[in-house]
Amino acid sequence: MKIIKNINYVYQCEVCKAEYEREKDAERCEKLPAGKAIFKKGDKVEISQHDEYRPKELTNGKILKIRLYSPINAYQLAALLGLSCKSHFYIYDVKYPFGGISSHSASQLKLIKNK
Ligand SMILES: [Zn+2]
Repeated sequence: MKIIKNINYVYQCEVCKAEYEREKDAERCEKLPAGKAIFKKGDKVEISQHDEYRPKELTNGKILKIRLYSPINAYQLAALLGLSCKSHFYIYDVKYPFGGISSHSASQLKLIKNK
């Protein structure tokens, strides 16, 4: 039997930790600015993106988790949120006082109170 080596490398962007099969994609990702997260974990925020089906008690909550994404590998999410493809972007998980979590971009949130 012949042993054929088949090693697949995975390249990771050191900014957002996204993984790529091609080195140049990871390099391209790392060159995109990330800026700073606007909100902090624990901040109380209001979700400005109201819809009539959302009960009133579900319009504010606390930032539970902050995630950094790249428009290169999360391009569908970026497009959905209408975000620029020229920088990394943050997604904030908001926990409601009565339970439940939803994810939002910074433009959908308004700060009520700092942690
Ligand atoms: Zn990245």
